[in-house]
Amino acid sequence: MNETGWKPATIAARAAGAFDGEFGGAVPGVQPATTFLRDADYAAPGGRVYARDHAVNVAQAEEVLRQLEGAAACRLFPSGMAAAAAVFRALPEGARVVLQSGIYYGVMAWVRGFCARRGLALEEVDAADPLAIRAALARPADLVWIEVPSNPWLKLADIAAIARLTHDGGGVLAVDGTAATPVLTRALELGADLSMHSATKAINGHSDVVAGALSVREADSRLWQAICADRQEAGAILGPFEAWLLMRGMRTLPLRLKQMCANAQSLAEGLAAQERVAEVWYPGLPDHPGHGLAARQMRGGMGYLLSFLVDGGRDAALAMAGRLRLVHRATSLGGVESLIEHRATIEPDSGIPENLLRLSVGIEDAGDLMADLAQALRG
Ligand code: PLP
Repeated sequence: MNETGWKPATIAARAAGAFDGEFGGAVPGVQPATTFLRDADYAAPGGRVYARDHAVNVAQAEEVLRQLEGAAACRLFPSGMAAAAAVFRALPEGARVVLQSGIYYGVMAWVRGFCARRGLALEEVDAADPLAIRAALARPADLVWIEVPSNPWLKLADIAAIARLTHDGGGVLAVDGTAATPVLTRALELGADLSMHSATKAINGHSDVVAGALSVREADSRLWQAICADRQEAGAILGPFEAWLLMRGMRTLPLRLKQMCANAQSLAEGLAAQERVAEVWYPGLPDHPGHGLAARQMRGGMGYLLSFLVDGGRDAALAMAGRLRLVHRATSLGGVESLIEHRATIEPDSGIPENLLRLSVGIEDAGDLMADLAQALRG
């Protein structure tokens, strides 16, 4: 919930009201204490006892995200993977999981292994196909996990429709919104129960923090209580300096996204007009199968991630990437600097086209970026 009614740009710029309470500094300091002093009566002033659950900077960053998400509560984790794993670890014995196919490789691989080890029933389905997801949810699922938009296929699943189907069966819908951020898509408002983000990406936005976030619509749910207990007891927490950096990064999140989305739209259109580009996948293009849904489900832009297929196959795609001078060749996404990646190198045998390049669009000048991509395509 966002009790103030302020818009995302306001929440982010003022870091949800966090400041330095001791010296009156306009921004909070890094508070590295692992333990907190008790008073003479052995009470804990401020309710803080130990940093695994009461770290000040972590709580401050969580509050910014909680308000941006319109969530009841938020918890940070030391990576996006740690946040995702916390959800699956909280499932009961014998649970049935429905997982969107073609999502971020790391999550897919980990969930497959975890479900096999724990004896959980796992079904993978193309959640962007309304008939396929309806068929998968004809039988109740305890957890449905989707990624919107999906990485690197850029598919759009209908969060509100899937939430209804999931809830009809008594289950929980979790949405990995890393490629959208809570600024572009508020999954909880659309009916999802849990919203997950790799905060390593656009939420931090400066390629210098690894972090993950989970937010919830109803904080008293059994699953959320189990997730919070798991974080506290198993101890997957973010360090204070990382939380502080994350909060500093989030101050400009809505502003950065405006530029990243405008650049991505312009590059998607520019790439689609290039002779040596066979296809461009970006929800902002009118011929994208998820364009109409994205227009309803996203606000303020269609995201900063796109994929394109280079004519001539794997070698042509790798050669094109090799000729780039401005765009970095590197994994990851969501930073202020544009990154390109040949996904089939990272996840071989996963069905990713060999000529696919994924582009995470930053905040550089769009004309400079397009000129670099065009020269690299020309060869
Ligand atoms: N979800 C998505 C969509 C991702 O792209 C990533 C990482 O690339 C993750 C989750 C995992 O996040 P992290 O690298 O912070 O563990």
